[in-house]
Amino acid sequence: MITVEEFRQYGHSFVDWMADYFKEVECLPVKSQVRPGEIFRQIPELPPADSETIDQIMQDFQQIILPGMTHWQSPNFFAYFPANSSYPSVLAEMLTAALGAQCMVWDTSPAAAELEEKMMNWLRQMTGLPGNWSGVIQDTASSATLVAILSAREKYSDFLINETGIHHHKSFRVYCTSETHSSLEKAVKIAGLGKKNLIRVEVDQQLRMRPEDLEQAIENDLKNRKAPLAVVATLGTTSSTAVDPLEPIARICRKYDIWLHIDAALAGTALVLPEYRWMIRGIENADSFVFNPHKWMFTNFDCSAYFVKDREALIRTFEILPEYLKTKSRGMVNDYRDWGIALGRRFRALKLWFVIRNFGVQGIQDRVRLHITLARKLADEIRKQSDFELMNEPQLNSVCFRYRPARVAQDRELDALNEKLLSILNASGKVFLSHTRLNGKYTIRMVTSQTYVQDKHVMMAWDLIRRTASEIT
Ligand SMILES: *Cc1c(COP(=O)(O)O)cnc(C)c1O
Repeated sequence: MITVEEFRQYGHSFVDWMADYFKEVECLPVKSQVRPGEIFRQIPELPPADSETIDQIMQDFQQIILPGMTHWQSPNFFAYFPANSSYPSVLAEMLTAALGAQCMVWDTSPAAAELEEKMMNWLRQMTGLPGNWSGVIQDTASSATLVAILSAREKYSDFLINETGIHHHKSFRVYCTSETHSSLEKAVKIAGLGKKNLIRVEVDQQLRMRPEDLEQAIENDLKNRKAPLAVVATLGTTSSTAVDPLEPIARICRKYDIWLHIDAALAGTALVLPEYRWMIRGIENADSFVFNPHKWMFTNFDCSAYFVKDREALIRTFEILPEYLKTKSRGMVNDYRDWGIALGRRFRALKLWFVIRNFGVQGIQDRVRLHITLARKLADEIRKQSDFELMNEPQLNSVCFRYRPARVAQDRELDALNEKLLSILNASGKVFLSHTRLNGKYTIRMVTSQTYVQDKHVMMAWDLIRRTASEIT
């Protein structure tokens, strides 16, 4: 094992490595090109009995591990969603690792609890959420949505399901659309509500929830003695960044007294721009909201910002108080272990503090605006090409399109052609894009919001896409 002085030396050289990595990452193959099992086979069957040097381990890291990594921080990464980091965020993560504190209650690190409260207030103001809502950092949006469903379940069962179990309770119903993220289905299963009670409301042409169909589904359920419990609206769906119309949905939820959870995991960061606040019009009638600074807001995974109107319902749902966790400060401060599922918590507020202060709100706005502009510009380029088809009207940071040469008429053939195009592009190592299906059609998706992406990266990718498409037979 190394000493603290050796730690100092390696620490400096590791930071040098990281800076070189960030400078060179755009030249590495974006998507890892290894085959299944290739990394596994290179790691010894048994752990070493004796100490190995950091130099040896680092050498293997470079030779074995790195080729098996997909480079999410490359500006040529356009797949899935951004999982952004940034220099200030990485620096803060180093400090968090060094402190290694467990931030489950105020007493176990007061600064962590108080900085978290303040950072959530900052984020609430930056995104224009209601001033009377409370925020807490969750590990992921999946956890936050589960927390929302469990809070709703308890609030609407007078906190009885926590006491007696779900068996004899009436049948709760949860509403979403075909476009809602799969984490909701998982939450409904974990919460014991049953997947059959997750109702998919119809969407319109642009894949947004149809409020009148939501109301119809609720009315039908009431007639059949079901109990409408929660609606999940999405701002920025995973496939096509569609935005559900919040205002009418929220009105319906108030009318029927149903918990409204808003999933803005990917696109919520756009709310830092005043011109995107229309997305949360009507939010005062909602109950909870989640967005991921660990996606688009330049903050390392994991950091998911969850906001809730009725914080008493949240705390009553999750509170536990074993003797060994009783503290004198209870009631005067926030003990965040009662605000979610896990007991142990990392000091996640620190990286937010570094990111927000070092970018400044203006700096965050500028970059988010640039990302949206890049998506718009790409869409304009696609529109100009008669052999490409734009599959969504990009409002945010993702563009959906497919290659559609005049010689191919059938959707099935087009699906195969685009699948082939995508696999050639990704095998080139020069870009990484992903796909989805929109209205049943195979669609290539390009997300233009990696932290350091610039116009030239998007234009190079578009060039490559066109050239590759024209060479496909
Ligand atoms: C990414 C995403 C999620 C899941 O986020 P995690 O933090 O990975 O759990 C949920 N909903 C939407 C709309 C997303 O884009």
